[in-house]
Amino acid sequence: MFIKKIKEQFNKRIGIDLGTANTLVYERERGIVINEPSVIAINLRTEQILAVGQEAKMMLGKTPPYITVTKPLTNGIISDFEVTEKMIKYFINKISNGRFINPRPTVVIGVPLEITEVERKAVEDAVLGAGGRRAIIVEEPMAAAIGAKLPVEEAVASMIVDIGGGTTEIAVISLSGIVTSKSIKIAGDEFNKNIMQYAKERFNLLIGETHAEELKIKIGSAKELDESLECAIRGRDIMTGLPRENIISDNDVREAIQRSVWTILDNIKSVLEVTPPELIADIHERGIVLSGGGALLKGLDRAITQTTDIPVRIADDPLTCVVRGTAILIENNDLLANVALPSSLEK
Ligand code: ADP
Ligand code: MG
Repeated sequence: MFIKKIKEQFNKRIGIDLGTANTLVYERERGIVINEPSVIAINLRTEQILAVGQEAKMMLGKTPPYITVTKPLTNGIISDFEVTEKMIKYFINKISNGRFINPRPTVVIGVPLEITEVERKAVEDAVLGAGGRRAIIVEEPMAAAIGAKLPVEEAVASMIVDIGGGTTEIAVISLSGIVTSKSIKIAGDEFNKNIMQYAKERFNLLIGETHAEELKIKIGSAKELDESLECAIRGRDIMTGLPRENIISDNDVREAIQRSVWTILDNIKSVLEVTPPELIADIHERGIVLSGGGALLKGLDRAITQTTDIPVRIADDPLTCVVRGTAILIENNDLLANVALPSSLEK
């Protein structure tokens, strides 16, 4: 028993969902130990990390010039390598804090579809630089599908649409592989930007991104709701430069994000169009599964059903699907070997 424990300690494995909006870390036997926004605040004068995660997110748009608050993964790939490495290092350190035996963990990590070799290597380097022993890379929609308990290994199509902050990833999976897929840079962040733009045009109001996100979550929708919703919108008047408040409705927000929603719908359709007929038949029967925070946008499931004529289901706890997928992979070497991308470091 004791020996087994020691062995496990040295064979430490963690799963990371390095999302554009949120980073989650799963550790064997402890579950999800980190679930924080992918945001980091750095003091430019001293180069010190001031805050990471929720605390840093609260500083967004409120800092003096010598403090920078960044989301290093904007667009789904590492746009700021050094900062990303710092962030991963911070999280890995945080979970091993204060423990006597502290081996370097093997890290199973999800990355967006369609990342380049260079970007994949950047992720691996960031994990190693942050103290990982080895990085095993899996594609996010594959991890999401596994987390949603879809039968990815069987000869039957599973279709997953993962809508995160920076990217929407659409994939059809069969026999442990991605058969058809598409990754687009229209997702939750874009909805926020759409709402900011709309506030400017419709109400002459400049609003912050955090407020836009709040409006989206409270009253945003992809299709008309049974009951209409309203909310106060606060910002700075473009003309007077002074603070002002208005009332914004679900209709307004729907109009604001409409084009982005359409783009997502169009891309789901275009993936279906190139999916082989046998698999299409499975998808018709088994439905499409939504994951990621964007899956929670009200009425998005209905909008997809209406466009595709296919039943749609939101995965349980959609925000944790990817990290729960990595958690399953940590315990299942065969499946992991089947779905892992080849390491760019072992060439
Ligand atoms: P990522 O994997 O890119 O980190 P997540 O899957 O964590 O992204 O999802 C984050 C996105 O989901 C953000 O854009 C956030 O605003 C959005 N989101 C979270 N909850 C909701 C909700 N209830 N309705 C609409 N969007 C939501
Ligand atoms: Mg994600």
